Amino acid sequence: MSEFAVPFHWRNFKSRYNLIGSRCSSCGKYFYPERSICPICKRTVKMEKVKFSGKGRVFTYTVIRVPPEGFSSYAPYIVAIIELEEGVKITGQIVDCEPEDVEIGMPVEAVFRKMRSEKGSGIILYGTKFKPA
Ligand SMILES: [Zn+2]
Repeated sequence: MSEFAVPFHWRNFKSRYNLIGSRCSSCGKYFYPERSICPICKRTVKMEKVKFSGKGRVFTYTVIRVPPEGFSSYAPYIVAIIELEEGVKITGQIVDCEPEDVEIGMPVEAVFRKMRSEKGSGIILYGTKFKPA
C-alpha cells in the first residue's frame, strides 16, 4: 500500500512514474524501489539503476469496498501485489478490470494513471497502476 500511505515526494514520484529500481551487480537480484545497498549481499556493491518492463502477474489481490478518504470515487477497486517479470513485487491498483474478473496469476502491465485528487489543494497525484495485459 506504499503508494497510498506515504507522503508525496518528488523523488518517489519519479521512481513510480518510471518504475525505476535497482539491480545488484553482485547477486543479480532486482529491487524496487531503488536501493543503494543490496540487502542480500549486505555490503557495498554496485547497484545498477534499472527500469522495469512493467509486465507481470497478479501475485495476490484484495478488493477495497470501503476506501480511505480521497478514494471514494474509485470504490470498489482492486489493490494487488504484482510480481514483475524481473521478480520484484509491487503494490498497485488494477484498473480496467471488474473485481469479479481479477484472478491470481493474471498477466498485467503497468499504466500511468491518476491516483487521486488531494483534498482541497486541487493537486492530482499520478502513479503507476496495472491493467490486464
Ligand atoms: Zn546482492
